[in-house]
Amino acid sequence: MTVERHALVIVGGGPAGYTAAMYAARAKLSPVCVEGYTAGGLIMTTGMVENYPGFAQGVDGPELMLGLREQAERFGTQLIAKDVTEIDLSTWPFRLSWHGAEVEADAIIIATGATSKRLGLASEDELDGRGVAYCAACDGAFFEDKRVAVIGGGDSAMDQAMALSKIAREVVVIHRRDSFRASEIMVEHARAHPNISFLQPFTIQEILGAEAGRVTGVRLCEEHTGVNHVEPFDGVFVSIGHQPATELFQPFLDHDSHGYLTLKPDATAATATSVPGVFAAGDVHDRVYRQVVTAAGSGCMAALDAGRWLARHGSWASSPGGASHHKTAEVVPILTA
Ligand code: NDP
Repeated sequence: MTVERHALVIVGGGPAGYTAAMYAARAKLSPVCVEGYTAGGLIMTTGMVENYPGFAQGVDGPELMLGLREQAERFGTQLIAKDVTEIDLSTWPFRLSWHGAEVEADAIIIATGATSKRLGLASEDELDGRGVAYCAACDGAFFEDKRVAVIGGGDSAMDQAMALSKIAREVVVIHRRDSFRASEIMVEHARAHPNISFLQPFTIQEILGAEAGRVTGVRLCEEHTGVNHVEPFDGVFVSIGHQPATELFQPFLDHDSHGYLTLKPDATAATATSVPGVFAAGDVHDRVYRQVVTAAGSGCMAALDAGRWLARHGSWASSPGGASHHKTAEVVPILTA
């Protein structure tokens, strides 16, 4: 297999990845963006985004993402709708592969975002796809006129509950605490829907329906009294937050105990990771802000950082006469001097 060499490979297609790709393409870095099989990231699973600047009436999440993708492509980004399966950041140029291809990259931006957290119940695994779901925009249509539960107390849970209220007969938000993590305005919006109600503080002990082969209800525990009871449901949407999709990179890059990549900012690059030439953008390193606008902003920063890094160190990919040479990880830091 021929190993192509690129100046910049962006891993991940969400607000951070596409914005990085758009900036890098406009800077003539000929970026390759490996956007993943489920391109678009988490925002594809949300409904109306009301807080992205410039859209006074709000904008549909998937519509915003398709616009960003098109914008990245318009300036010459090569988009690859596959998942990176292997990566080696211990040698330079870096190596990556996905189904049917192996490439080298002089610089990499990691923007793989985050994936939905699971409750961790055996019954959740057993009924996944048979009434247990994680995305109202993707699976809501299966629950027309049904009674569904949304688990969680954050903005995502409110967002999913509102999306489902347009399809399902009744939506019950089940949250483990008396107060919400969600912003007041989102809770207010959700409360205004007559078919959304709230159960607090309850934790889910079990999702019921294994014998029936589909969700029939949940067994709940009231947090103050410890009393259990069963509530009937046709579907359970788990919306309890996200975890960074960084498994592939963790052997090479500094990260915290939750898997978020640790940035090593210097005077010229705020998005630098612990390996020179590798940058991180969006939810893979941000456990604080996690907004579409901040992800897009950090994608922009990573593209500018990567561009400066390539300009300083030279990109083989942009010099046709350059010879392919592999340096060990120990040599790489010298390149940043
Ligand atoms: P959050 O981390 O904000 O909220 C997760 C919720 O799930 C919390 O209420 C948490 O409870 C609960 N939870 C976590 N683990 C468990 C568990 N094991 N069992 C039961 N409940 C659990 O995640 P979100 O995905 O809601 O939001 C992430 C970010 O995205 C936020 O910054 C949010 O503002 C943003 N966002 C914005 C939207 C918009 O503006 N349209 C839409 C969606 C998200 P507890 O509170 O007790 O910890």
